[in-house]
Amino acid sequence: MKRNLIELYNLPLEVKFCRKCTVSNQRPRITFDENGICSACNFASLKRSSIDWESREIELKKLCEKHRKNNGEYDVIVPCSGGKDGSYVAHLLKYKYGMNPLAVTWAPLKASQIGRKNLDAFIASGFNHILGTPNPIVARKLTQLSFKFLGDPFQPFIYGQTNFPLHMAVKYGIKLIMYGENGEVEYGGDMKNANRPNRDIADHDAHYFSGLPPEFWVEKGITLSDLYPFRAPKFEEILANETEIHFLSYYKFWDPQENYYYCHENTGFVANSERSEGTYSKYASLDDELDGFHYYLSYIKFGIGRATSDASHEIRDGKISREEGIALVKRFDHERPKKYYREFLDYCSITEKEVEEIIDSWRSDHLWEKKGNEWKLRHTVWQDS
Ligand SMILES: [Zn+2]
Repeated sequence: MKRNLIELYNLPLEVKFCRKCTVSNQRPRITFDENGICSACNFASLKRSSIDWESREIELKKLCEKHRKNNGEYDVIVPCSGGKDGSYVAHLLKYKYGMNPLAVTWAPLKASQIGRKNLDAFIASGFNHILGTPNPIVARKLTQLSFKFLGDPFQPFIYGQTNFPLHMAVKYGIKLIMYGENGEVEYGGDMKNANRPNRDIADHDAHYFSGLPPEFWVEKGITLSDLYPFRAPKFEEILANETEIHFLSYYKFWDPQENYYYCHENTGFVANSERSEGTYSKYASLDDELDGFHYYLSYIKFGIGRATSDASHEIRDGKISREEGIALVKRFDHERPKKYYREFLDYCSITEKEVEEIIDSWRSDHLWEKKGNEWKLRHTVWQDS
């Protein structure tokens, strides 16, 4: 079965690459200006030139003041996998701004050793922590279904990662949830939140769930009770709790590499000994053995792999040049995850043949052509710029 990606994700037919970074206009919700510059690059320039970071820090202090409880209860939830970003947020809020955070983690589908080690080190650096673990049989079934129907095995994880902090907020009466970066803004997407510190809960379905909330899977045979931990609390409960979701990247200049150095020093974070498949980086998104497939499917669907996302961010942050970025994309973006391929097949209970069929069903004609036995992207950043 062939998918209509243009319709599903509202993709432009004509592929264009940003003139400053390596991303293309095929990233869902990204916009390009009249000079051919993407919204994420424009936001990055804005971050450097016209945002007054001192006054943003005053805003952060006011926010902390508003939510700080002096009765010993938790006053902020920090969603944190033990990776460099969440750990940085939690550590900074606790030790610099005097908050009493509750760190919460939604369990990876298949936790990696390095991820677990970093989570333990983070907790050991002085945090109260709750791990949410869904029924693994249900998580596997949902992973298989979402790989088959959405072309993304990671969707069940994203449900839990997004909704578990909301459950904990309601349960403990904690009004503030602090995330690290606003991915929509930092990587290019819906820019309506670029100049606001918080997120509209009503956007969840569109931005994180590909328009398909967890309840969708009932029609595929998953019961509501099995879906419960993946679902959001009732909207009225979220409102009654006066829950606010904020991003630290609004208040503090956000630099993933600096977060890495900070966590290496303060929360015992260590980078991987080898680069992640599909990219050149060693310190981002290390927690789940299956996440390589999430990035690889993005490469298939949009022509945007993990190296493109990493290189684009680093070009915007001034860490590498566009030429270096393009070379890295050429070298790594197409790399298929091999290391955990067997585990992936076992975890999803699918055959190699099914995997190939699913992957090919997500190759859109406007992006891919078959030459002999080989699939080739019609447009690449190294040929088109
Ligand atoms: Zn750009």
